[in-house]
Amino acid sequence: MEKRMQKIYTSTRNKDIKRTSKEAILAGMADDGGLYVYDGLDEVKLPIRDMMEMSYAQMAETILSALLPDFTEEEVKKCVQDAYANRFDNDDITPLHIAKDVPVLELFHGPTCAFKDVGLRMLPQLMSTAIQSCKGKDVMILTATSGDTGKAALEGFKDVEHIGITVFYPDHGVSNMQKLQMVTTSGQNTKVCAIQGNFDDAQSNVKKIFQDQELKERLNEMNTTLSSANSINIGRLIPQIVYYVFAYKEMVRKGKIRFGEEINFCVPTGNYGNVLAGYYAKCMGLPVKRFLVASNANHVLYDFLTTGIYDRNRSFFKTISPSMDILISSNLERLLYYKSGKDADYIHELMKSLEEKGSYQVRSDIFKDIQKDFYGGYCDDETCAAIMKEFYEEKGYVLDPHTAVGYKVMKDYQKNDATPCVLLATASPYKFAPAVENAIFQQSNEDEFACMEELQRKSGARIPDSLLLLQGAKIRHEDVIDKEDMRDYVEKTVKEMFHD
Ligand SMILES: *Cc1c(COP(=O)(O)O)cnc(C)c1O
Repeated sequence: MEKRMQKIYTSTRNKDIKRTSKEAILAGMADDGGLYVYDGLDEVKLPIRDMMEMSYAQMAETILSALLPDFTEEEVKKCVQDAYANRFDNDDITPLHIAKDVPVLELFHGPTCAFKDVGLRMLPQLMSTAIQSCKGKDVMILTATSGDTGKAALEGFKDVEHIGITVFYPDHGVSNMQKLQMVTTSGQNTKVCAIQGNFDDAQSNVKKIFQDQELKERLNEMNTTLSSANSINIGRLIPQIVYYVFAYKEMVRKGKIRFGEEINFCVPTGNYGNVLAGYYAKCMGLPVKRFLVASNANHVLYDFLTTGIYDRNRSFFKTISPSMDILISSNLERLLYYKSGKDADYIHELMKSLEEKGSYQVRSDIFKDIQKDFYGGYCDDETCAAIMKEFYEEKGYVLDPHTAVGYKVMKDYQKNDATPCVLLATASPYKFAPAVENAIFQQSNEDEFACMEELQRKSGARIPDSLLLLQGAKIRHEDVIDKEDMRDYVEKTVKEMFHD
């Protein structure tokens, strides 16, 4: 059979579930609860040397074509163009900035000022292409958010044909800036709704809606299916591989390394999506020695990477790096799959243990192999604030709290390994201006915009236009519902959006 049509994606928990990449992207996750993976990943070898001459867009085309073989060359080209051209405020998309001597990969130049834009600008393009060729139905994307994912998904899916998006956020559970970003979103197909409950309520009710068979049938009669936009979707994960290759190219171009030399990456981590994309790049031939996985006070990953035991039975902390406040790192399942020699039965067992006991322990040979590629570290809020101040004073550059967590871990690690290391900057400091200003200048303004202005005046770093424009922007979404009414809300929204 022609490779293009092959069902090369299988579930991490069951090899009998097979999908083409288009089907996998439309479904989001496998019916058995597993994540889609490609067994041939380590046989794909990227033309790294040739890629050193490529633009970001050309690199993206090369990587997407290799991993999404049922997309035609024209389709891939168009997706890349529509995802990135004129959407980022820097032509490099993810520029590598050298802060004195520290290479910082700036992933926050997209429309919502966090790295999630890189994946969530691309996912809607891939999804709408897949709908056309799979003769698919209309798709309603459901997202529960505690912050950055909601706005990035709204921006990505805004006005994409045959797709609607509904975002649920906890009333009083997101930052002012994050709420403002969401409720001012325009677009015919966007819906944002606060729920009276916390993030876990939003998340678990969305999962229940996905599993509601009667609702599924009623939506089916309206020619609509549901899908998800979080990082378990390969259509969001794969585009993130690109900036690792791009960073490598820039390290060579700026004379920091010779071509072929190994480097390290330090990644502020929550759901393990970002750092896993880096590991995929390594599997496909990028010369990387190790990934430094940085956590905040919720350091379930640090514990795992030092003991081989994953245990989510612990207290949950709200920190100043909220996008990393997470106790279940979904994408770790994909890493375990590859590191176990693609043993779906073994993964099924581990995930069952996670569901039933909230913990699992991996076999020691697998654990040793994981430790070769990944190092874990963490940083609490107090140290994070001190790092923001120190970095600003020593390097003249403002880090956001997530990136500061990364720098602390990187600094510790570099005491024992001088390999050149790139720090991934996952958000603009202006998304968290009060915390940043408080850390660097020991003062903070109640008013978010006044705070941003002050930080700009003192630090000289420019406020992104997309955040400035929010001041005085029209509020378009004011719905607040009880958490028990989410299902009815979704059904009503589908009717209004696709059938009125
Ligand atoms: C989502 C997010 C992270 C965590 O990324 P994962 O892919 O979930 O590991 C880190 N920093 C910021 C700013 C984020 O928005």
